[in-house]
Amino acid sequence: MQLPEKIQNSVLRQIAEKVVSHTPVSENDARIMLNTPDILELGMIAHHVRTELHGNRAYYGVNMNLNYTNICELKCPLCAFSKDRGEPGAYVMSLDEIREKVSQAAARGIDEVHIVGGVNPELKLDYFENMLRSIKEIDPDLFIVAFTAVEYDYFARINNLPVDTVFDRLIAAGVGALPGGGAEIFAPHIREHIAPLKISGKQWLDIMRIAHSKGLETNVTLLYNHGETAGDIVDHLYRIRRLQDETHGFKTFVPLVFHEENTKIKARRPEPTGFDDIRLFATARVYLHNLPHIKALWMYVGEKMAQILLRFGVDDIGSTYDNEKVVHAAGAKTADIGSEDHLKRLITGAHCSPVRTTAGYGRKTGSRI
Ligand code: SF4
Repeated sequence: MQLPEKIQNSVLRQIAEKVVSHTPVSENDARIMLNTPDILELGMIAHHVRTELHGNRAYYGVNMNLNYTNICELKCPLCAFSKDRGEPGAYVMSLDEIREKVSQAAARGIDEVHIVGGVNPELKLDYFENMLRSIKEIDPDLFIVAFTAVEYDYFARINNLPVDTVFDRLIAAGVGALPGGGAEIFAPHIREHIAPLKISGKQWLDIMRIAHSKGLETNVTLLYNHGETAGDIVDHLYRIRRLQDETHGFKTFVPLVFHEENTKIKARRPEPTGFDDIRLFATARVYLHNLPHIKALWMYVGEKMAQILLRFGVDDIGSTYDNEKVVHAAGAKTADIGSEDHLKRLITGAHCSPVRTTAGYGRKTGSRI
């Protein structure tokens, strides 16, 4: 039986018909999927797309997080991580500390270093070049996924350089891919509320366009459950799909559920339900036909939901993330390190086949797949 014949909901069946004929679904279809009560039928459609792209494979990584400073000028209301200089708990890691942490993690067998931090005017471009070179000196095979579009924009401004030059210098020092942070939600009326001093959604996409033109592949995130509407989510997905048609540089879409503890955004809405999470990830899988991967970070959605989402369009549950600080500062209850065995167990428990990889999915140290 073909996929559409298995779907009882007539509107979802029309979406399934588009999917099997490889016709991109519309923004209205995305809105319908985000609101449907028929999550099992939506899941069948999303699982079809996921299986066409990845078969039974599910990806995970063995990495460390390097949050080099929490001092940040932007003071986004959504953030529980940033501090002012001199405030208790504010820190900047020295290059020696970074070398030490990465050496220890390399000895434990990580493949990747994931680097993001606050935007701190004390840190000039040579600090980042030296950081990246030191990591490559420890092990040239360590894959480095580093700095959000917000940080690249700031590096350019604070060093009085074109963004283009910043990319060239940091690629030369070892950057292999970009994480997708700072995208938050592109819709200006919400973005101005949760991150008023951060670059606009348009600027974020412009920086990604430059990264893609340099041959860097990147992730793209969505921060959800802080006051956005379904229409704002569809707008976000639409802008991602449009840039991807132009550059083909996005590798992975990563929805991040907002954690409000210690932030300045209070009780705007309760935690998302299981239906909400499932609808969002499955809709993204179906709508973003031109992006290869959908990632559910176990640390954000919880390990059990990450595992279930492997049947709702997700093909990647994230990495071990040794020493993650950002989401834990906002109250995430998950452990700050998942062992490789545990991640493999979640994947095999969902009857998928675990594949250890990096943000490059098969490039450089990801050649294991
Ligand atoms: S979210 Fe990022 S840019 Fe905003 S205050 Fe926190 S560290 Fe700074």
